Amino acid sequence: MRIVSRAAAMQQLALRWKRAGVKIGFVPTMGYLHDGHLSLVREARKRVGKNGIVVVSIYVNPTQFAPTEDLSKYPRDLKRDLKLCRDEGVDVVFTPGDAEMYPGKAEGKYSTYVVEENLGRVMEGAVRPVHFRGVTTVVAKLFNLVLPDVSIFGQKDFQQAAIIKRMVMDLNFPVQIIVAPTRREPDGLAMSSRNKYLDAEQRAQAVILFHALQAAKNAIAKKPVTAARLKKDLQAFLTAAPLARLDYVEFFDPETLQPVAQVKRGAHMALAVYFGKTRLIDNAKL
Ligand code: AMP
Repeated sequence: MRIVSRAAAMQQLALRWKRAGVKIGFVPTMGYLHDGHLSLVREARKRVGKNGIVVVSIYVNPTQFAPTEDLSKYPRDLKRDLKLCRDEGVDVVFTPGDAEMYPGKAEGKYSTYVVEENLGRVMEGAVRPVHFRGVTTVVAKLFNLVLPDVSIFGQKDFQQAAIIKRMVMDLNFPVQIIVAPTRREPDGLAMSSRNKYLDAEQRAQAVILFHALQAAKNAIAKKPVTAARLKKDLQAFLTAAPLARLDYVEFFDPETLQPVAQVKRGAHMALAVYFGKTRLIDNAKL
């Protein structure tokens, strides 16, 4: 397994493989890997075959964090991540630093960003205004460095995956985007690097996000319910976890991400919930 930290070196390697007709599968991450990330790696391997190259990037991207968010505290353990990648048969781990990804930024000389102007306005984009600009910018840059044929994203970040798909379509990136299912802990909590922030009591209650998705599924199984009604019911439902503070719950069309007034089967639900300072998200098709 190669570990590459220079942007130019990564691009040179990728160009060489491209010219040789080798397929490249790519999984961008912020590290602190768990089985959710590794399931994307396995999907990438399936897509490119044993003669293809699987690249994982590990980079905590500063431009997708607001100044008030957890950038400096974001969990990191590169040694462990590298071992997990090696065990999973990853070919290249790309670990650029900020100076490689945003040269001159500290001196105000970095000034190009990629902005998706529609899907990024709702839900996560509404409560985290700079977030998706950071995501689209870093993913566009990573695509230009890794030159993937296929790139795998998790449904855990449903809105992010939708925005990346739109960016790829709108900007003609020659890459296929695959969205892989959310991996969960045995009790149903979606795996996330941020779960590490939870204390024992918060962790026990955090499964309420998953249960809220199940409750909504059950509520609309027989007939549609208005979004307003369902939101009220879910707010009451969440009081079963006294440490949970709801940030938002939305019901929306999975293609346009626009809210729906009537929630019926096939609609999508997403929610964000705080436990102390830790913010967890989850989503599902109902
Ligand atoms: P992150 O390191 O949190 O930026 O996530 C990197 C990639 O892993 C993104 O495409 C996420 O959607 C995906 N991912 C994160 N958690 C999970 C999970 N529990 N199941 C599947 N994919 C996930």
